[in-house]
Amino acid sequence: MPSRERYFEVLERDGTARLGKLRLDEPRVTPALVGDLLEDYGSLWTDDRATPKGDTSKITVLPHRAAPPGTPAEVVEEKQPKHDPRGFPTAAVVSAENPEPSGHDLYILTGVRGGNSRDVVEAVKLARRSLEPDSALFLPASATPRNVATLAYLGFDAFDEDYAVVSGKGGTYMTRELEVDVEELEELPCSCPVCADATPDELKRDEIAEHNVNALRAELVNVRDRIRNGRLRDYVEGQMRASRWQVEAVRLLDGTDYVEERTPVTCRTELATNSSESLDRAEIQRFARRVVERYRAPRDDVAVLLPCSAGKPYSQSRSHSDFRDAIRRRAHEVVVTSPLGVVPRGLENVYPAAHYDTPVTGRWDAKEVEFVGGVLADYLEKNEYERIVAHVEEQGYGDVVEKAVEKTGVNVEYTVEDGAHPTDDASLETLKETLHGEERASHEDEKRAYVRATADYQFGRGAGDIADEAHVEGRLPRLRVVRNSDDEHLATLTPGYGTLAVSVEGAREFDAPRVEIDAFTPEGSVLAPGVLDADDEIRVGDEVIFEGPSAVGVGRARMHGDEMVRSERGVAVSVRHTSDV
Ligand SMILES: [Zn+2]
Repeated sequence: MPSRERYFEVLERDGTARLGKLRLDEPRVTPALVGDLLEDYGSLWTDDRATPKGDTSKITVLPHRAAPPGTPAEVVEEKQPKHDPRGFPTAAVVSAENPEPSGHDLYILTGVRGGNSRDVVEAVKLARRSLEPDSALFLPASATPRNVATLAYLGFDAFDEDYAVVSGKGGTYMTRELEVDVEELEELPCSCPVCADATPDELKRDEIAEHNVNALRAELVNVRDRIRNGRLRDYVEGQMRASRWQVEAVRLLDGTDYVEERTPVTCRTELATNSSESLDRAEIQRFARRVVERYRAPRDDVAVLLPCSAGKPYSQSRSHSDFRDAIRRRAHEVVVTSPLGVVPRGLENVYPAAHYDTPVTGRWDAKEVEFVGGVLADYLEKNEYERIVAHVEEQGYGDVVEKAVEKTGVNVEYTVEDGAHPTDDASLETLKETLHGEERASHEDEKRAYVRATADYQFGRGAGDIADEAHVEGRLPRLRVVRNSDDEHLATLTPGYGTLAVSVEGAREFDAPRVEIDAFTPEGSVLAPGVLDADDEIRVGDEVIFEGPSAVGVGRARMHGDEMVRSERGVAVSVRHTSDV
């Protein structure tokens, strides 16, 4: 594929959704309506015509000939019009069944059965996987004020107003919540220029269409704002309830590699977990999985299971300060919480353990008990303690512990009386006495446990063993890891992200994921065109080491690994440190 100027750029990623920019004379930030920008030459074209003379004010749609399913690839290739590198933005029509990348800025996805949630989800997954990551994906004739947030969440960047207009001309009035015959309305639930001061029976068909487009535009403003702030998922979990189709689509997408690859490993944004779908979020599932698969408890004599606190990190909260006073480093502290499952003390600063906010009612639903109890059981099977003390209240937390006991057969000692609260004086006193005679860890041990835990969580089981050959300086939550043999600085535990920011030496020691770059010395960032290869496992927010013939350095990934390799535009890595080799 010839390299050419590209006119679409991804500015921000929020999971599967993106904030992008169509770089036209008048740039347009996506997700957006783009119908007015398309100059369609497709239908006018024949084989022998020259490439149209496009310009940078519009996106020129070039023709694509669909081939029947089963046509050999070389025949399909032969039949496609050949496009030269161009100096203007272009689009192509592709089929949902077989979306082929061909160097365009925007792809118009056709053949999607919009009413079928499974079809839409499969189509967007295949298209985003197959087409260039730095191209925009346009779903024509589908967007409504009600569904556009979900469509953007699935990964579409561009829409048109066609469906909203046609519906309006047919008398259907659309808002974020509803799509009804205008005659069913007593009042107009909108204050756009069309609806302000009007009554439903006064609206002409054209005006309903105009209102529908206004509502669609307003919702897109909201969607872009949500993506900018990394909060689209929270919004969609509420908005999707406006129709069954959207709930299905989000549920079908959850748990797929498509979402997992695009979900950041660390983030400063608070994670709101307000619905039962929150449990299925990739952030939550990944955390639970990594705790079970990667984490290793720093001691195996005694563990105390504790309830979570509303304040984060937990140890800064009033209740946990009381628990810690009673425990006095004589046990490993393990926090049980919905929806994350299990948060060992050393991981309390890691995303999203320090970043989630969840409604607390004291009542746990069956799905929560099953999930958290399951994670706790897996955790206790991986980390075998001689004693397990459960310092939790009977209701809810007690059910979770019982669920884990049922599954594993472990023996648990309870220190909170039925009906009492873990922060009651009597409960704290019982906890203190229960731990009488247990060995007390040093402050140094405790800091080392944070480093070990974070390194294992971040880079894989075993990575944290370096902590045994290093000393840990500073006070929690800001720690510096320095190698004993040569006083080389390996990493800093950064409070905001809760991850280890590594030095080049540290990246080698922890075996951080790698990005291979071309012969240049990056300043500020490694751009995608400079990336030759990148580990598949890299996720947005990962600490990576980059290396090329001219320079080596470390930084934070801004794209997932596959996207770094396939993109021609955008920042792949934010550089923290770089040096010439
Ligand atoms: Zn209106």
